[in-house]
Amino acid sequence: MGIVSFDDNLAASQDYLARFADEPLLHLIDGQATASVSGETFENTSPIDGAHLGHVSSGDVADIDAAAKAAEAAFAEWSQISGTERKKLLHAVADNITERAHQIAVTECVDTGQTMRFMSHAALRGAANFRFFADRAPDAANGQSLPTDTHLNYTTRSPIGPVGVITPWNTPFMLSTWKIAPALAAGCTVVHKPAEWSPFTAHLLAEAALDAGLAPGVLNVVHGMGETAGKALTEHRAINAIAFVGESSTGSLIQAQGAATLKRVHFELGGKNPVIVFADADLDRALDAVLFMIYSLNGERCTSSSRVLIEDSIYEEFTARLADKIGDIPVGHPLDPTSVIGPLIHERHHEKVCSYRDIAVAEGATVNEGTPFADAPAGGQWVAPMLFTNARNNMRIAQEEIFGPVLTAIAFTGEADAISIANDTEYGLAGYLWTSNVGRAHRVAAALEAGMIWVNSQNIRHLPAPFGGAKASGIGRDGGDWSFDFYMETKNVAIALDDHPIPKLYGGAKP
Ligand code: NAD
Repeated sequence: MGIVSFDDNLAASQDYLARFADEPLLHLIDGQATASVSGETFENTSPIDGAHLGHVSSGDVADIDAAAKAAEAAFAEWSQISGTERKKLLHAVADNITERAHQIAVTECVDTGQTMRFMSHAALRGAANFRFFADRAPDAANGQSLPTDTHLNYTTRSPIGPVGVITPWNTPFMLSTWKIAPALAAGCTVVHKPAEWSPFTAHLLAEAALDAGLAPGVLNVVHGMGETAGKALTEHRAINAIAFVGESSTGSLIQAQGAATLKRVHFELGGKNPVIVFADADLDRALDAVLFMIYSLNGERCTSSSRVLIEDSIYEEFTARLADKIGDIPVGHPLDPTSVIGPLIHERHHEKVCSYRDIAVAEGATVNEGTPFADAPAGGQWVAPMLFTNARNNMRIAQEEIFGPVLTAIAFTGEADAISIANDTEYGLAGYLWTSNVGRAHRVAAALEAGMIWVNSQNIRHLPAPFGGAKASGIGRDGGDWSFDFYMETKNVAIALDDHPIPKLYGGAKP
């Protein structure tokens, strides 16, 4: 997608959003736009200026039941069509996403406050997720060959059944494709419950799937609150697994809610990811990576490097350079292609993020702030980037997930201290490490308690590689074959190759 001017994006947004303005946004159940049984709706407002964007159907037990039954009925056919056919259909979904990438990106910007600079890539990454798993659909059922002297053992995989996908509001379109594409490629049908603060692009994804020829009921969308629609989905008997992305505390709730029906769960949860900068690193590259990994995507990013641990000998110089740089980060309208940071998603989230300014002061850290958006429309959730220096790891600003453009800088003395500070957190999603010492890179990577480590690099995703977190950051891994392991049941078939001895239980000669 090429760069489109602010004015053109703005005009397009009025076009794209007009459809959501008049009529309430409905659920998509069994291929039909469907109002809530209760008739309830909730309001969706703009993070840019608080304007009304539309009303959205608010689902509950009855709507989830209808969607789960539709997914169950559609499973019979979808699970049986060949992997090659599924591959074709999922590539057609990717084609539709690519064709509508500008519409998806613009809608996402206005619904979430994330800037076009990043959302244009996120829409296309959604298409890439579909293509990646589409290509693997034909082989998804193939397992391993595990022969012994007496038996041929082979494994096969079959789709687990209808699954629930529950997603958060940060980059909602891309994240939902990361779950829905492998589920569909595996042969599962899906009920998607998008975040209530960012409901619009889930509809665009479901439309792209229907228009590509996916049968009604294969992908259903039910909007609504987590405590009602989300909870009902996690408790429904026809739903065999829940793929969830969101807060760690919500993950705990979902595990409890799904216990009665023995739900298989896959959790991608919160993070307080360290980026460790040793004095021997390429400091210019490290500086750019540190800035990128916390101030891109409004800092509303699970893998953001929200704690920078800096070797004491370079702490003053490195933090001074960071403070200098954040002054120039362009905060602006999300549809302006030059903006880096846009408004935060919601008033409540804005309040939470900004409260850490006072917490930092009370804890004795130094607060550095970037330049606010001079023309910020009133009523929006605007924030300038923040950097907390002279922090210690036992402060709340170093322990709690802020999930905004806020970086906490902590000094360390030597390798063991860096590892100890990095691991002193309840989370364990990602870790980043900058050093020119190869041995140290391996040692520290091995010692960090996290699911993903990047050395001398920002977060670059390789879709076949595992994605997920340790500790309170998650359960399970996505990516490549790991995704299919979650959405499929594995079966082992053992076939005797010879007349091996079979023990007689009784009836033989008495000893
Ligand atoms: P959240 O947990 O509040 O909500 C996520 C989803 O869960 C929403 O759709 C919500 O309606 C639903 N939900 C809430 N309560 C529920 C319940 N009781 N039962 C079922 N569903 C329920 O999270 P959020 O505030 O939307 O998103 C931000 C969080 O997501 C951050 O913690 C962030 O780190 C995390 N996240 C993690 C990853 C990852 O890959 N690890 C990626 C993106 C975001």
